[in-house]
Amino acid sequence: MIKSLVLIVLHTLTVHGADPGFPVANPSISYWQTPPNIDVADRQSHQLPVEVDVVIIGSGMTGTSIARHLLNEGRQDQPLRIAMLEARQACSGATGRNGGHIRPSSYSEYAEAKEVVSQAEAAAITRLRAAHVDALISAANELDDAGREAAEARPVDSIDAFFDEGSYIRAAAQLDVLKKEVPDIGSQWTSWGQEDARKISLLPQASGILTGTPKIAGALWPYRFVTHTLKALLDKYPTFSLDTHTPALNISSIDDRSGRTNFEVATPRGIIKTRHIVHAANAWIPHHVPGLDGKISGGRLHMSAQLGGAGLPKAGAWPSYTSNGSLLTGRAWSLFRGNLDYIVQMPKNGEYMFGGGEGLRSGGNGTVSELDDSAPPDHDTASYLNGALPNYFGYANWGTERTDFPQPTDPNVWRGRTKCIWTGIEGGSTDGRPFVGKIPTSATRRQVKNATAGAEWISAAYDGEGMCFAWLCGQALSAMMLDSEAGVKNHSVPDWFPKSLEITEARLRNSNTAKRALRMRRGRMSGFWDRILRE
Ligand SMILES: Cc1cc2nc3c(=O)[nH]c(=O)nc-3n(C[C@H](O)[C@H](O)[C@H](O)COP(=O)(O)OP(=O)(O)OC[C@H]3O[C@@H](n4cnc5c(N)ncnc54)[C@H](O)[C@@H]3O)c2cc1C
Repeated sequence: MIKSLVLIVLHTLTVHGADPGFPVANPSISYWQTPPNIDVADRQSHQLPVEVDVVIIGSGMTGTSIARHLLNEGRQDQPLRIAMLEARQACSGATGRNGGHIRPSSYSEYAEAKEVVSQAEAAAITRLRAAHVDALISAANELDDAGREAAEARPVDSIDAFFDEGSYIRAAAQLDVLKKEVPDIGSQWTSWGQEDARKISLLPQASGILTGTPKIAGALWPYRFVTHTLKALLDKYPTFSLDTHTPALNISSIDDRSGRTNFEVATPRGIIKTRHIVHAANAWIPHHVPGLDGKISGGRLHMSAQLGGAGLPKAGAWPSYTSNGSLLTGRAWSLFRGNLDYIVQMPKNGEYMFGGGEGLRSGGNGTVSELDDSAPPDHDTASYLNGALPNYFGYANWGTERTDFPQPTDPNVWRGRTKCIWTGIEGGSTDGRPFVGKIPTSATRRQVKNATAGAEWISAAYDGEGMCFAWLCGQALSAMMLDSEAGVKNHSVPDWFPKSLEITEARLRNSNTAKRALRMRRGRMSGFWDRILRE
C-alpha cells in the first residue's frame, strides 16, 4: 500500500513534463499477464542487496537478456552480482503487453536504413533484426519443459499485406533491391500480386502481399518467455536478485575509496552500491538520464486478444504459399493500411492477438498521458480494434462467431468475442534507431569517480520493434560490459553488431524530430510520431 502511494505521488509530480518520471503504480493487466507467473511476478529479496557489480533497472526483454548474457557468458567461478530492480510487477512494461511478433519487414527496413547509414550498415541492421527469430526460439528452447511450453516460441507463416496498389508496388520494388543487395535475407521473401494475394491471405481487399519463410518470422508469448527466463536465472545464480515493486528512485555517483563501486541507487527499500548501472527501463530512461530527454519519447500503444470467426482456418489449415503447406504453429499478419495493424494467431486456443489503430485517437480522454498504461484504452482505437477483424477478413470468410472457447474464470478475460484490450508504453528515439552502449557522462550528468571499471549503460528505444531488437542488443551490450569488466579500456563492439546503434555524443547531438519526420516508416509507433510532429 505504502509502495503504491509512493509511486502515485512520484508519478503525479513528474509524468506531465518532458521528464517521463516513473511508471504508474496500477497498470492495466494484459491478456499475456493472465494468470501472473507467481514465481517471479511479485518477487523480492528478503533483504535488498547492499553492494553488487551491476544494477539493472527494468525487468522486460532487455533487462532479462542483459542479465542472462552477463551471467551465462561471464566468469562461472565468480558470477557477477546483479540486482534487477523493477518498479511494478515483473515484466509489466511493454514486453508484458506487446503483440508477440518476432517479424521484421526486412525490405522496407533495409530501404529506410540505407537513407541514413551505409549499405553495409543497413544490411547489418537488417540481419540483426532477422536473427531474432532464431535467437529467441533457441533461448526459449533452453528453458525447462514448463518454460518452453509456456513461451510458445515458434516460427509462423508470415504475411505483410498492402491495401493500395502504390504501397504494394513500392514494397515489391524494395524487395527486389533487398534480393540483389542482401540475398541471404531477400531470398526469404516472396511478393504476390492481387489475385494470389487474396487467395493466400483470405484478405479480400488486399492489393498485394509479401510472404516470409519461417526463418525470418516467429512469434512467442513474451511475458511467459521473460518470466520463465528470470526464474531460471534466479534458480541457477545465487548472485542474481530480482526486486519487484522497487523503483530506482535516484542515482548518485559516489567517491568510494575502496574503488569497488561508483554509484548509489536509492530505492524505497534501501540503497544499493554498484559499479555498473544498466538502464533497461524503456520510455522511462530519460528520468535518470537527463541527456536523453527529448531523444527518447514514450508513446501509448493498444493491443487486444479476440476470437477469430468460426469460418477462418485453424492453424495449419490456411491456404499455403509454399510446397510444405501452412504451419501448424499459426499465422501472423502485418497489415499496412495507413498505419500498421498486426495480428498473431495463437496455435492452441486460436486467439487472434490484434494490435494497431494508432492513428485514430479520439481525444475524448485527452487528459491521458502517453506514459499511462493504467487508464482505459482510447475509445476510438479500442472500437476500431474491436470491429476491424471481420472487416479485414471479409464477412463471408469470417462466418459465425466461435462458441467453443473455454469460458474464462479470470475477470480480466472477458466473456465475449473480445477477450481483453489493453495499452502499453513504448520508447522510440528521435533518429529512429535504438541506443545501445556506454552512455556518455554528458548525458547521465554523473562522473565515474573511483572504480577501475564501471559505467552506466543502455539498450533501449526500439520504436515498437523490440522483439526484433531487444534480445541481441542486450547480448551485444553484455559483451561490451564483460570486456570492460575484463579491463579492456575501450570495450569492443561485437563484429555482428551494427555500429550505428551505438550511443555516442555525436549521435545525441545530431538526432532531432525534424530528421525523424523525413523518414517516417509506417510502424507501430507512427501514429504517435505523427501526433508529436503535428504539435
Ligand atoms: C502494445 C505494444 C505492442 C507491441 N508489439 C510488438 C510486437 O508485436 N513486436 C515487436 O517487435 N515489438 C512490439 N512492441 C515493442 C516491444 O514490446 C518493446 O520494444 C520491448 O518489449 C521493450 O522491452 P524493454 O525490456 O526494453 O522495455 P519494457 O518491457 O517496457 O521494460 C521496462 C521496465 O522498466 C520498468 N521501469 C521503468 N522505470 C523504472 C524505475 N525507475 N525503476 C525500476 N523499474 C522501472 C518498467 O516498469 C518496465 O517493466 C510493442 C509494444 C507495445 C507497447
